Amino acid sequence: MSILIKNVLHEDTITDVLIEGNRIARIAPNLPSPEGAEVIDGTDKAVIPGFINTHTHAAMTLFRGYGDDLPLMEWLEDYIWPVEAKMTAHDVYVGARLACLEMLRSGTTCFLDMYMHPLETARAVEELGLRAHLSYTLFDQGGAERAALDRKRSYEYYEAFKAFSDRITFTLGPHAIYTVSGEQLQFCHKFAVEHNVKINLHLAETKGEVDECVRQHGLTPVRYLEKLGILSEHLIVAHVVWVDDEEMDLLAKHRVSVVHNPASNMKLCSGYTFKYEEMKKRGIRLGIGTDGCSSSNNLDMVIAMKLASLLGKAWRFSPTATKAADIYHSATIGGAEILEIPAGRIAEGMLADLSLVDLNVPELVPLNSLTSNLVYATSGSSCIDTVIIDGVIRMRDRYVPGQEEIIAEAREVARRLFGHG
Ligand SMILES: [Zn+2]
Repeated sequence: MSILIKNVLHEDTITDVLIEGNRIARIAPNLPSPEGAEVIDGTDKAVIPGFINTHTHAAMTLFRGYGDDLPLMEWLEDYIWPVEAKMTAHDVYVGARLACLEMLRSGTTCFLDMYMHPLETARAVEELGLRAHLSYTLFDQGGAERAALDRKRSYEYYEAFKAFSDRITFTLGPHAIYTVSGEQLQFCHKFAVEHNVKINLHLAETKGEVDECVRQHGLTPVRYLEKLGILSEHLIVAHVVWVDDEEMDLLAKHRVSVVHNPASNMKLCSGYTFKYEEMKKRGIRLGIGTDGCSSSNNLDMVIAMKLASLLGKAWRFSPTATKAADIYHSATIGGAEILEIPAGRIAEGMLADLSLVDLNVPELVPLNSLTSNLVYATSGSSCIDTVIIDGVIRMRDRYVPGQEEIIAEAREVARRLFGHG
């Protein structure tokens, strides 16, 4: 199956893009159409790589707008955890489908997830056609029984994920250092090395987490992980707001990847001084995440880019920090490097994971800089017109097949969980 996109803006030129199978085969003007190819008119559109959301909890779309504006522990204990206790595997599937729909409509083609019932999320991803790294959440809080169950499930899920397509990858997801024992974190590291999978962990998110880590282990979070011997290129850590220079050196030395979640950090008041520039200077692979919809309220990576850029400037009083091009890089190439997939760029040989941007939306006019317009002026859901993933058209003219049913089903589940929808 081939797709030929005609007369589309790519960087500064109008060109054609030929997709063959799941790869970008050729980029050149006036390409002949191979027999049987699907031809898309790219006039007044730009082709961009799909965004890679490197930290989210897809099924939490169902929590959107529930228990907002509350202190963290009250929010978790009185709102989130009681509802999560009522959630069925099917609810996770329904929430993940809603998330996939929202991601497609805002130009995200790949994401890194952590949640319970990961096979349900995988089913949703398979159906909607995205690419995803999905973690099962390990959460033992030092309890031997749950720890043993989590270890058993890790093996089971690793095997069960083999039934899905190549777009779906199993990842380990120890929740955080304050909910998972050191021994269990070491199990994750060993498992990750043996099976060559990633580990997805929340780290150094709040000042309270750091203080508690020092109290319990006599070390700050990154030093604690170093002592456990689990810093490696398998590890992807989200948030990382509270780290010092030496800890950033350790992350760089061990090739740990870091994901910035500006909306969540601000809304939950976890901290706002994410050291993007310091980490970039050290060569740390950096990604952008939305986090779940309970703490960011949407999964729009274009909005996340704007927040990341503006926040990075604001706390430093530096308009030259966290430049649009750097943040755009993290949301595309950075994410692809973290997940080690040949994507994030529109170039021959790359995976055909891309979007067409509608250049006729008012906030993209004039087009002095597409990167600036994307990062600062628009939102993904207002300008993304077409999405292709793995060489398959998954959204066209802003329409995703089955979207009405996905929305209706999410409303129905929300009605049951919250009494309204
Ligand atoms: Zn998270």
